[in-house]
Amino acid sequence: MTEASDGRSAVRAMRAARAETRPPETPTPKVPSGTTLAEKWVGDLGSDIGSARWFRSLGLLVSLIIVAFAFWPDFSALHAAAPARLSDEERDEYRSQMITPLALGADSGRRMGPSRLVLPLANAPERPVVELTATLGKEDTLAAMLRRAGVSGNDAARVEELIGNALPLEQIGGGTSFDIRLGRRANPSQPRPLENLTFRARLDLELAVAREGGPLALERRVIRVDDTPLRITGTVGSGLYRAARAAGAPAKSVQQYLKALGDALDINREVSAGDNFDMVIAYKRAETGEVEVGDVLYAGLDRRGSPRAQLLRWGKDGRFYDANGQGELREGLIRPVNGAVGSGFGMRRHPILKIRRPHNGLDFRARSGQPIFAVTDGTVIMAGRNGGFGNFVKLNHGGGLATGYAHMSRIAVNRGQRVKRGQVIGYVGSTGLSTGPHLHYEMYRNGRAINPASVDFVVRQQLSAAELRQFRSQLIELKKVKPGAALEPLVPASALPAEPQREADRLSNAPG
Ligand SMILES: [Zn+2]
Repeated sequence: MTEASDGRSAVRAMRAARAETRPPETPTPKVPSGTTLAEKWVGDLGSDIGSARWFRSLGLLVSLIIVAFAFWPDFSALHAAAPARLSDEERDEYRSQMITPLALGADSGRRMGPSRLVLPLANAPERPVVELTATLGKEDTLAAMLRRAGVSGNDAARVEELIGNALPLEQIGGGTSFDIRLGRRANPSQPRPLENLTFRARLDLELAVAREGGPLALERRVIRVDDTPLRITGTVGSGLYRAARAAGAPAKSVQQYLKALGDALDINREVSAGDNFDMVIAYKRAETGEVEVGDVLYAGLDRRGSPRAQLLRWGKDGRFYDANGQGELREGLIRPVNGAVGSGFGMRRHPILKIRRPHNGLDFRARSGQPIFAVTDGTVIMAGRNGGFGNFVKLNHGGGLATGYAHMSRIAVNRGQRVKRGQVIGYVGSTGLSTGPHLHYEMYRNGRAINPASVDFVVRQQLSAAELRQFRSQLIELKKVKPGAALEPLVPASALPAEPQREADRLSNAPG
């Protein structure tokens, strides 16, 4: 018998033994006798007691129990290797490489302990120079930054004076880094003297303060800067933002571009994949490689079959105007009086007439005598008594828009007068059909009263004729910029030909 079949037999024997413990209603599986070798040896010990198969099964069970006991472990001790004894030298070596806990002052946790070979120095030698880079923080002063870098008070004051002569110190922005070299000091109790300090004051200017011989002196190094604007063009494709970014426009510029364009047209609906975007960005690059990206100067979109959008930044406040010199839409409506709306627009029961009739304006709650303001620029077309409106002022704002202000205690304008947005045109009262001091405010479009709250009132600025001429020439100038011209490498001034390059010129200029 092989071991494998022996194992299988054992399993069968155990199954058979388990079968015995089953509840009586479960019929005991009958093993047909003598068909295979296993069935010959494994039988139910509860049936056919005394048969040859029963004895074989019992013998198998007993022998399996003996085998199981043969593997019973003993509990005698296991011997491990004895720890090596360290000699004194070995222990010193281990100690010198120990990991010192942070609590004992090591900053990395790992420290080489000094051995007996290490002798303390009487005095440590100094580095001849210390070179470092210091950065000016926000809300920081130059002197404070220099003192932090280890510059003495006298030197820091002198540096501040020298740089202050070259440019206002406030112009040096936070984040500017200074290369500083400190020299050898006479004795360890003194601060190191400043030898050299260099920084980029502006894109086009590097300043250096250096000690040559005795006192500190300022040196200006002008850096050539090219201010060709950066023009970026491309096809919109799947998205304007992505396309512009992919074409190399800085994220900030694309945002400005989209904002300018969004004021002129509906970007979601009116821009299609075949349109071409065109933007010009203020751009400065120094010969040393740095660039400064400024504002978007021009935002254009050439649309197929629709008028193209051309927006140019103009004026002190940097607003965008379209090619006709019309400014962007700007919210221009102000509240006519400082007060809450008490009664809205629409049908209501009139407080005095006691009948339902449309209320053609907004009633603002206000105290008597409060000033009433023109909601935007306009001309006074009515100022005086007007029936139930009492003292009434009507302003014409152009473009078919007009506003009316009723129940005033006093009128402060005359008919025909031009008024500015926010100008006082009268004072709150209760004249005419009114139950108490309030402002009844109406708005009209082409003579018909409309709900003032529903009007998204905006103004557009228009450039004057003289300004428009300058504006147009600047627009033409910007459109002349070649796309990508600002990205071409800038030839350093030092590499520009200073003397004739041709052999013939060189010979003819040769002395003698
Ligand atoms: Zn009213």
